[in-house]
Amino acid sequence: MANKMMGIGASAGVAVAKVYILDEQPIVIPQDTAKDVTAELANVSQAITKAKADLENLQKIAQEKLGAEKAAIFEAHASILEDPALTEEFETLIKTQSYNGAKAIGEVAEKYIAMFSAMEDDYFRERAADVKDVTDRLIRYILNLPVADLASIAEEVIIVAEDLTPSQTAQLNPAYVKGFACNVGGRTSHAAIMARSLEIPAVLGLKTILSAVSATDVLAMDGATGEIEINPQKTDVWTKKAETFKKEKAELEQFKTKKTVTKDGFDGFVLEGNIGSPKDVAAVLENGGEGIGLFRSEFLYMDNDHFPTEEEQFEAYKQVVTDMQGKVTIIRTLDIGGDKKLSYFKFPEEMNPFLGYRAIRFTLDRKDIFKDQIRALLRASAFGPVGIMFPMIATVDEFKTAKQFTLDCKAELEKAGVAVGKDLQIGMMVEIPAAAVLADQFAKYADFFSVGTNDLIQYSMAADRMSEHVTYLYQPYNPAILKLLKLTIDGAHKHGKWAGMCGEMAGEPEAVPLLMGLGLDAYSMSATSITKARSIMAKLTRKETAELANKALECDTTDEVLALVHKLMQTK
Ligand code: PEP
Ligand code: MG
Repeated sequence: MANKMMGIGASAGVAVAKVYILDEQPIVIPQDTAKDVTAELANVSQAITKAKADLENLQKIAQEKLGAEKAAIFEAHASILEDPALTEEFETLIKTQSYNGAKAIGEVAEKYIAMFSAMEDDYFRERAADVKDVTDRLIRYILNLPVADLASIAEEVIIVAEDLTPSQTAQLNPAYVKGFACNVGGRTSHAAIMARSLEIPAVLGLKTILSAVSATDVLAMDGATGEIEINPQKTDVWTKKAETFKKEKAELEQFKTKKTVTKDGFDGFVLEGNIGSPKDVAAVLENGGEGIGLFRSEFLYMDNDHFPTEEEQFEAYKQVVTDMQGKVTIIRTLDIGGDKKLSYFKFPEEMNPFLGYRAIRFTLDRKDIFKDQIRALLRASAFGPVGIMFPMIATVDEFKTAKQFTLDCKAELEKAGVAVGKDLQIGMMVEIPAAAVLADQFAKYADFFSVGTNDLIQYSMAADRMSEHVTYLYQPYNPAILKLLKLTIDGAHKHGKWAGMCGEMAGEPEAVPLLMGLGLDAYSMSATSITKARSIMAKLTRKETAELANKALECDTTDEVLALVHKLMQTK
């Protein structure tokens, strides 16, 4: 059997250690009906009490090892258990359908897991993992199955598992657990996010690692590239890799506090962070983010049981703007619809919801809902520099209508004596090819562009960003995409406006040289990518990246473009 495997590099770092197989006894839910409804109800209630105590304990461990922000996940888990709607659903199934406790929990969990898994936003997809983590714990207690105790590992190991839950990850002691490799998961899994905080290397999405190793094997892994080797032959190769990683990490550390400057001394590029909620601000600042390039406002709506009021939204936006201490915060208006659903609002059934009633199309149609958000955003802008941007803009008319609506709300507030920021900018996402092609016209009206490559690529290639069957078409480096980026950036500059990017591409090490060459002004990415991007910029001149971009625009294929990037970066 091949002893090398490739997965998703989810937390950087190199490790070589003995395998520790975490092969939990699978949960098999009994299907028999409850003989004693009262006893089943008591079982469920005892399991909930026990799980709550566990979560409190885990929260304490995580608080010490990972800090308050990461420990908050266990508060979220506890709140799932405290949700009366959920427990009521368990109870109803037991009382009315004579379900046994485990079956009732399993069925309710399945419903919520399916709902969250279908959502487009990574944040909400991860909620599926939270529900599974909590409900599996309950079911294990009811069925008297062991719950893994990873905190007691006391020798150097690499954990190999189907998946690691957030609660399992929080128990890992980095002194002994040198890394973990799982069959499932990706860069945005909670396990991956925690692994990065704990600085434990992780490779996920390996599909078959669990069946490929045995307990006596030694594993070598590179958490940046996703490379795995079982019983490595040439250990010196791995020692060298580990040294290189350590050196690079030390080098990147300095870039947290350095200014963003290219090799030729240009300091006009800005590196920013993407956030999904106010609690993400700390990581952006800690990694040297020069602003927030995308605040996805959906969390306020999706983590709720009603459309958030103007006041509720104002508090959240104000907190972010204040925490950013004078650095710019770009907040995107509600990007709901498609597969991002709300429990308290029914969207129309459509054949292609991604191409349907969503984002700006929805908010322009529901000005009552839009108005609460715009007023909250305008009021928050009095506390620091704010950019408002609209998602999924397809036509100039749409943008002009949304902008005018914002200006009308502003006038109304000012008339009532409510403060609005002087530095307010009103811009738009460029994530529909039509907007990129017509950037020149849009730039007459928009203060800035922010390219949403996650969507721009899927719409340009007609390849669903969620479908595993067409991932080969999801090509950020396709010259067609580069041409759309060029149109967007040139369009903005022609009218003295700036162009940014907040799709995942902005933080990809291979994309940064190309984007510099195309003249992109602002790069917004996950907080942990900022130092790497800054270090790449420090190695490159604008002249050489412009030459790279020009050549790339003439290429026929993605591979040709990437070959050009690799050739340039090899000399650095
Ligand atoms: C994008 O489309 O690139 C983007 C940043 O928005 P989202 O991923 O939230 O759709
Ligand atoms: Mg988008």
